[in-house]
Amino acid sequence: MSAVSLFLASWVVPVSSPVIADGAVAIRDGRILAVGEALTLKSQFPEARVENCQGVLLPGLVNAHIHLELSAYRIPQPTGAQSFCDWIRALLKLRQTGEISVPETVRAARQMLEQQYRAGIVLLLDIGNTIPASPAIAQTTAMHSTFLLELLGPDARAEEQVLARIDSLPDSVLATAHAPYSTTAGIMTVLKKRADRLGHIFSLHVAESVDEVVLLRNGQGCFRGFLEERGAWDGRFLRPGKNTPGVVDYLAGLGLVDANLLCVHCVQISEEEVRLLAARGCRICLCPGSNRFLGVGVAPLERMLDQGLLPAIGTDSMASNKSLDLWREMRILREDHPGVSPARILAMATLGGAQALGRARDFGTLSSGKMASLLNARSPALQGAGDAEQLLDILTSGGQPEKLRWMGENGNITA
Ligand SMILES: [Zn+2]
Repeated sequence: MSAVSLFLASWVVPVSSPVIADGAVAIRDGRILAVGEALTLKSQFPEARVENCQGVLLPGLVNAHIHLELSAYRIPQPTGAQSFCDWIRALLKLRQTGEISVPETVRAARQMLEQQYRAGIVLLLDIGNTIPASPAIAQTTAMHSTFLLELLGPDARAEEQVLARIDSLPDSVLATAHAPYSTTAGIMTVLKKRADRLGHIFSLHVAESVDEVVLLRNGQGCFRGFLEERGAWDGRFLRPGKNTPGVVDYLAGLGLVDANLLCVHCVQISEEEVRLLAARGCRICLCPGSNRFLGVGVAPLERMLDQGLLPAIGTDSMASNKSLDLWREMRILREDHPGVSPARILAMATLGGAQALGRARDFGTLSSGKMASLLNARSPALQGAGDAEQLLDILTSGGQPEKLRWMGENGNITA
């Protein structure tokens, strides 16, 4: 049997159980064997190789929504007079001009992925329309990532083309739909069935802006004009005779709302819709930094938690965020939801993400049986924490700790 390694730290934050002062994590064969007080584990594993990490040991963070292919894109933040559609127009314009070359796009994506790993991300879900870059890039780090090819099409003509493309996709390419405002019900339904068959999560931008609700409710709002100016409005989003008070209701009417649906954003959803998502066991990912950047509102996190949901956190892309930093996203959540405890916010960034991506068997907490990807965080502020409460407060509101490194399975890779 291979040797046990024991990592000691001033604080161990398992996430699944209370913070341990002067704690330790025992690992063997890349998996966590035990988590507890240092003294206890030292006597339990007297032969173990011991390493004193100092600072804090916590599970790697999970970025449950990113678009690496947009890492070189900088779209100005919309002003008050501009709509969500104006931001999409600016993004499409930049894409269509070809101003950002393919090599530059790939380089920026690669740099961003490496940056994510150095910042303590162990697992991420990358969504992209063009470059399946992340699996290849991820091999250069010990990060675990999944790429989903994102497809969309708003009208009958586009639907025909996209359905033909889906037919020709090999099963090795995992695919998902963009959003209810850009993708016909027909395309979403086929992609959802395909995701169910292939056993991967179906990630969808849901209820990001109020205009999306208005489009599905009565065919109005900024998306109507946006689609008309592209000759792509044929009323496909409207379902005559069906009552569609909200985006989740619309998706439920299509039979898409179940445990394999990952709803990203969920800003403009009603209490009833939150209840429905919880009842169906859906997964949720919030992108607070992106929502703030685009001025679309704040997701009803308290209601979600009340319903027993633990949303994941995503950074979204550089096109709609100032930086892709999960530590900053936690801080924004703390600011937007002062009543939510720091422990809950940290659980979202770790366990919530792992659950959302269907990887909680391996990631999300420091507990027996999980992969030994231990994140070691150190900073003067963390050093000064007097108790567990203060420590969690600093971890979730202090931004990225000055020193981060990977211990255990991911080796002693210093950030
Ligand atoms: Zn997104």
